[in-house]
Amino acid sequence: MTIPAEHQATLLVVDDMIENIEILNNALCDRYRILFATNGLEALAVVQEQSPDLILLDVIMPGMDGRQVCKQLKQNPLTREIPVIFVTAKDQEEDEEIGLHLGAVDYLTKPVRPGIVKLRVGIHLELKRYRDYLARLSMTDGLTGIANRRCFDEFLETQWLHTVRSEAALSLILADVDHFKAYNDHYGHVAGDRCLQVVATTLANGLTRRTDLAARYGGEEFACVLLGTHHAGALVIAERLRQRVASLRLDHARSPKHSFVTVSMGVATLEPDQHVSPQALIEKADQHLYQAKQMGRNRIVGNQ
Ligand code: GH3
Ligand code: MG
Ligand code: MG
Repeated sequence: MTIPAEHQATLLVVDDMIENIEILNNALCDRYRILFATNGLEALAVVQEQSPDLILLDVIMPGMDGRQVCKQLKQNPLTREIPVIFVTAKDQEEDEEIGLHLGAVDYLTKPVRPGIVKLRVGIHLELKRYRDYLARLSMTDGLTGIANRRCFDEFLETQWLHTVRSEAALSLILADVDHFKAYNDHYGHVAGDRCLQVVATTLANGLTRRTDLAARYGGEEFACVLLGTHHAGALVIAERLRQRVASLRLDHARSPKHSFVTVSMGVATLEPDQHVSPQALIEKADQHLYQAKQMGRNRIVGNQ
């Protein structure tokens, strides 16, 4: 298994004593980019701005102490996964237990031994890199490289909650390749796979907003989730995607109407004033997709 090459990791060192920061900086600066903060609030601000790969955190600091900082980091989904190592003079068993219970990955006591700090930081960065890699892998479709069904399900679930709370709109496009069984029968499965890869990339690249998601829903079906997008806007985007696929002019000799690959699409929208479930949204888009097929394919159906 190949894991992507390591980029230079960024560490955040938090300690109210500059001398302690210097000791850790000297031990680690040849391998890593080092940021530092001298109190809890500053540490949280640096984490938000710079997303470090790992944090070395002093426990006793005036104002917000290290334990409070750790607690806040672990409560926030955006910072939860950043490994925290406590570095502290508190060397009682109980102190270490408290630190590890708070979600720290390790606990180092002062005075620190530079060789050991270096090794432990290296181990935890490696584990983090591996965790990130597996997390990415579990959300990616093996054939097409775009988001997979699991990613789609999780994304829709969390964005649905957010959308209901914020009273924004959310649209869903379900796209299905037309006469794809005939494509496979004529050109073979290897060519079919290649066709799906091209269609997937075309759909994913056709979405321009960073918050939109294109995923493989299953087989030759794809789903696009458009955040903050009303129905009229979603129809425009769907039409653009349909045209992009058609204009690839991928040969499809067995397509009854066109000689190239086309997709049909169903569009549904969760409007601010309705509280439908994600499942109902999918069902609506699926009904519209079915109608698009009935009406001759290579077209889009949304709310009438
Ligand atoms: P329609 O226009 O009504 O959507 O017709 P269709 O032939 O596209 O639909 P149908 O559901 O009958 O067939 C879907 C085909 O997609 C059958 C299946 O073998 C093929 N398929 C699904 N997943 C893959 C895949 O990963 N690779 C390849 N090559 N084919 C796939
Ligand atoms: Mg199909
Ligand atoms: Mg299908």
